[in-house]
Amino acid sequence: MRVMVAGAGIGGLCLAQGLLRAGIDVRVYEREAAADSRYQGFRIGLNGAGLAALRECLPGRLHGLLEAVLGSIAGERRVVDQHLALLRQLPPADGGAAADRQVLRRLLLAGLADRVEFGRAVVGYTERADRTVVARFADGTSAVGELLVGADGVGSPVRRQLLPEAEVVTVAGNALLGRTPLTERSAALVPGFGTIVRGPGACMLLGRMQFRRPPRLAAAELAPEIDLPDIGDYLRWVVMLPGPLGPAPGAPVPGDWAGVRDRLLALIDGWHPDLVDVVRRSDVANSSPLTVRHARPVAHWGTRRVTLLGDAIHVMPPSGGQGANTALRDAALLCRSLTAAHRGEAGLPAAVEAYERRMLDYGFTAVRESLEQLPQFTPAP
Ligand SMILES: Cc1cc2nc3c(=O)[nH]c(=O)nc-3n(C[C@H](O)[C@H](O)[C@H](O)COP(=O)(O)OP(=O)(O)OC[C@H]3O[C@@H](n4cnc5c(N)ncnc54)[C@H](O)[C@@H]3O)c2cc1C
Repeated sequence: MRVMVAGAGIGGLCLAQGLLRAGIDVRVYEREAAADSRYQGFRIGLNGAGLAALRECLPGRLHGLLEAVLGSIAGERRVVDQHLALLRQLPPADGGAAADRQVLRRLLLAGLADRVEFGRAVVGYTERADRTVVARFADGTSAVGELLVGADGVGSPVRRQLLPEAEVVTVAGNALLGRTPLTERSAALVPGFGTIVRGPGACMLLGRMQFRRPPRLAAAELAPEIDLPDIGDYLRWVVMLPGPLGPAPGAPVPGDWAGVRDRLLALIDGWHPDLVDVVRRSDVANSSPLTVRHARPVAHWGTRRVTLLGDAIHVMPPSGGQGANTALRDAALLCRSLTAAHRGEAGLPAAVEAYERRMLDYGFTAVRESLEQLPQFTPAP
């Protein structure tokens, strides 16, 4: 059995690791030219289910390195005003760990060098009568397998063809994603799991990415064949705004981060100096505007030789901290189903259908829960 995966994101790579471990032939096709060709690095909170899925799919020899490059996210979440006065405490989150998306992705690429092809954007597919499926690429080439998994993120061309009626909604308002190198002073802003700043006209969410061990050094010691990025600790922050971050009247709108940052600095003028400092020192290469989207629920479509995983089917706002966790859960579940088919314990269509029905259920529950949590991070218009 050959499984083709469109997209080398967190979900697609986790699936590929699990399939390889089960002895299943897998090929991953990634649109980007290389692993680091665009900005990838923000902190994601992994919960118990996401971590369990990762450990299930990754080979045992990488578990130690995974633990070493995670960070702690224990403790309470505070809601404060723009002067850092405490407004309320939210209940602590259920354990878990913080991961840097870029580090995690590089770790998930370990051992897959001959399985992942970069610079190969999937543009569509053709199902054939002989129960195979042909994936078509932007460069005019194609590949054949028994199953195509669309793990190609929110804009998924695989989903657009399989479910042309599926809707992805852009959440009103405007969001900015920033990263700032961690200092002792900025670390104090996030004593626990996270801090929510509710200021006039903007809401700022702060989270800390403090690696247990520096990723590059940990890899050199624990798995020297893996080259992890040389990333230091940082503060990840998201600013939610009720509308566009407008320029001063008559002024041009600069498109680069420096321009966006300066307009944000003007908006938060008068906020606590430590918050202003976080924005002022933001890392230009790893900060950007952020579009928040969610998928509308879809019914099961009748099993084919093509299926979907992660943001490609159930993209959700980051407010619930569930998107990557759900993509990882999909990967582990699909891997288990395909392993059963590979061993002859189930037919391939039945195995895929069993995955899809469960995934649609918990995936869209996670979308709903994330949407319910969004208002606490959204400023009044
Ligand atoms: C600011 C922010 C904070 C977040 N925080 C959390 C959190 O705390 N916890 C959590 O669980 N989740 C969080 N998320 C969500 C999480 O990042 C996503 O849900 C997760 O990355 C989805 O993984 P994926 O593999 O499905 O998709 P992606 O990670 O988007 O990967 C898709 C891959 O497919 C590739 N691709 C796209 N089109 C094609 C094509 N045509 N052909 C081939 N390849 C293609 C892309 O280049 C990409 O590599 C956060 C998201 C954001 C933006």
